[in-house]
Amino acid sequence: MQQFDVVIIGGGPGGYVAAIRAAQLKLSVALVESQHLGGICLNWGCIPTKALLRSAEMLHFAKNMSDYGVSVKDVKFDLTKMVERSRNTSSQLSAGVKALMKKNKVTVFDGMGVIGPDKTVTVSQGTQKTSLQAKNIIIATGARAKILSGYEPDGRLVWTYKEAMTPKAMPKSLIIVGSGAIGIEFASFYNSLGAKVTVVEAQERILPVEDKEISDFAKAEFMKQGIEFIISARLGALRKLKDSVELELESPKTIVKADHIIMAIGITGNIENLGLDKTKVKTNLGHIITNTHLQTDEPGIYAIGDVAGAPWLAHKASHEGVIAAEMIAGLKPHRIIKENIPGCTYSIPQIASLGMTEAAAIVAGHKIKVGRFPFVGNGKAIALGESNGIVKTIFDEKTGELLGAHMVGSEVTELIQGFVIGKTMEATELDFMHAIFPHPTLSEMMHESVLQAYGKALHI
Ligand SMILES: Cc1cc2nc3c(=O)[nH]c(=O)nc-3n(C[C@H](O)[C@H](O)[C@H](O)COP(=O)(O)OP(=O)(O)OC[C@H]3O[C@@H](n4cnc5c(N)ncnc54)[C@H](O)[C@@H]3O)c2cc1C
Repeated sequence: MQQFDVVIIGGGPGGYVAAIRAAQLKLSVALVESQHLGGICLNWGCIPTKALLRSAEMLHFAKNMSDYGVSVKDVKFDLTKMVERSRNTSSQLSAGVKALMKKNKVTVFDGMGVIGPDKTVTVSQGTQKTSLQAKNIIIATGARAKILSGYEPDGRLVWTYKEAMTPKAMPKSLIIVGSGAIGIEFASFYNSLGAKVTVVEAQERILPVEDKEISDFAKAEFMKQGIEFIISARLGALRKLKDSVELELESPKTIVKADHIIMAIGITGNIENLGLDKTKVKTNLGHIITNTHLQTDEPGIYAIGDVAGAPWLAHKASHEGVIAAEMIAGLKPHRIIKENIPGCTYSIPQIASLGMTEAAAIVAGHKIKVGRFPFVGNGKAIALGESNGIVKTIFDEKTGELLGAHMVGSEVTELIQGFVIGKTMEATELDFMHAIFPHPTLSEMMHESVLQAYGKALHI
């Protein structure tokens, strides 16, 4: 039986990053992956969707070129080529992960990993079985889309993310159930290409985890672009017709018709058939329970990434992978601090956020100072022709701690990192005020938002 200091089950951004860090720390590492290195993120999530959204953005730019004094005639798009480019981007990055595993001398096993007694892991591929003996195990098996009974994907009318990322033909109309980041990104992509998109959301507002002001602003922008929203919706029956679907809503009483429906109502962890029942590992509502250093209740078994619970984001998975690897190597890494994990939605306009919303800060008992700065007050935004957006910051009145930062508008997914560094370093309002931001940049709005919270904004 081959022996390893650490056996990692799952080769997504959690697992493969944990493997690299463990190898850097001179541990012998096995990585078990049943499908494709890079996991959902590289193959069917973050990366291929961003490639598609880039195509949509290009089309959006091309259609608006005349505003910039550039004339482009006959703007058309080729869906097959967009999909091909997206798939090539994924393949390129998945191959890159394979090369990284080789470079770091990580032994990769193709197949399903199942945990057995005494930290053994059996890898099965077809009828072939390989047994590994681990000193430590990291579970990084990710998650899958939640499926509602009566709404099971059929690859034809009811789409999973995979069909939504590889359409054979351009749909004329689409229903998207769920208005979290994934639902909104698909809505933005297909709407930009000209499909009639209806987003159905059970909560009373879209992007429900975002600050209310930001989600209201984003909704208004999306509606201007033609996306329809049905909020506070209660799903009824889904009827599949020959080439289309009919979605009956119990509330508000209506029927929505479209070529396809995409379900984006959340995810559930891949915790089944892993042999967890033979361990002390505990689960709750489809996820493995860990402490803030990613340890489960079974000594020597760690869980990271989507399988270890929200937020379901690649950068959270990778960061947890580093912490778990460093714990195994006997270092004393910092704990994972969920309030410092940014979330981004790559629609047009983009949305980015960090920490508490205004409502959450109030519920948590903070007396707050809130700053807002609109894109229309920023020179670079106007020069770019991107004057729709807002940067909102929330501070604790007593301590000056940055509690939350929330943005909607062009390139905010790149801007949020400035606040992430500040918050991680426990910067106060004064640190942000003393920082000098380059001109002309969109980042100046971050400065102005902080200044505005304290009545010192300069350009509004
Ligand atoms: C459409 C879409 C868009 C997204 N966009 C973003 C984004 O823009 N930004 C962002 O941060 N996040 C995004 N996400 C979420 C992101 O993909 C996940 O948070 C991330 O992939 C989680 O990483 P992970 O390593 O925990 O799991 P995964 O990436 O799911 O990897 C788990 C791996 O484990 C393998 N596996 C499972 N069980 C076993 C087993 N028993 N044996 C062997 N292998 C196994 C699977 O094959 C898989 O490769 C998106 C997700 C989707 C679906």
